[in-house]
Amino acid sequence: MAKPTLAFFDFASCEGCQIEFTNYGDAATLELLKHVDVVEFREAMTETTGGRIDIALVEGSFTREADRARLQDIRHRARVVIAYGACACTGGINALKNHQDDFAEYVYGEHATMPHLESGTARPISAAIKVDYEVPGCPISKDELLLVLSNLLHGTEHVTPPYPVCVECKRRETVCRYDEGDHCMGQVARAGCGAPCPADGIPCEACRGFVDDANLTALEKVLMERAGFSQKRAVGKSRMFTANLRS
Ligand code: SF4
Ligand code: SF4
Ligand code: SF4
Repeated sequence: MAKPTLAFFDFASCEGCQIEFTNYGDAATLELLKHVDVVEFREAMTETTGGRIDIALVEGSFTREADRARLQDIRHRARVVIAYGACACTGGINALKNHQDDFAEYVYGEHATMPHLESGTARPISAAIKVDYEVPGCPISKDELLLVLSNLLHGTEHVTPPYPVCVECKRRETVCRYDEGDHCMGQVARAGCGAPCPADGIPCEACRGFVDDANLTALEKVLMERAGFSQKRAVGKSRMFTANLRS
């Protein structure tokens, strides 16, 4: 029996999520590769496909109307579409520009009119096509992506944890960043990564987006009262990976 086909596509992104996948030399990844046929993956192979695909993994934001047709073609050919990485799921850090007037001049100065810099509002790919699953993170958690793919291949529903990163952090018995005089946004960040950042002694920056009904007013208050942030810095910090979710 033919193996399910897997194809990777990229749009506006740093391609870090693709790179993250190519870093997977572990046993679980090698086991996965025994059960799928990778037919397109620009960072790792030269072959491409114009045929049917079982699972399409799409990285990057939808920033140009010109990309809509390519996304629709992927959707048309794929049985399942997975948006992976913050850029694809919410617009990610690309969406910061949605809050900045004249962002091209701001970043590129006199070179802002170069044709390859043409770009509009950064949106998730779900703004252009139906998405079946989302794997958040900047970059993705390799274990989570493997779990999503494994569940798909086994016909099991994948559920992203509804609770915040603090729960996973406490399970690991990591000392809280606030007790170290630092800041952290694990209180509102969506779990599923296993809280690696606080465990490595750095704050959670909510790269996976927020839990449902996150209390961002309380988060900003904590950042100001416990970590000494100005209100401007607290709002900016909470917007870094979630600019499309904030006003
Ligand atoms: S989610 Fe982060 S690592 Fe992945 S492509 Fe976007 S910017 Fe790069
Ligand atoms: S370090 Fe961050 S994630 Fe961990 S308990 Fe403290 S606030 Fe929560
Ligand atoms: S701990 Fe926070 S910043 Fe680190 S991977 Fe998880 S959600 Fe992202």
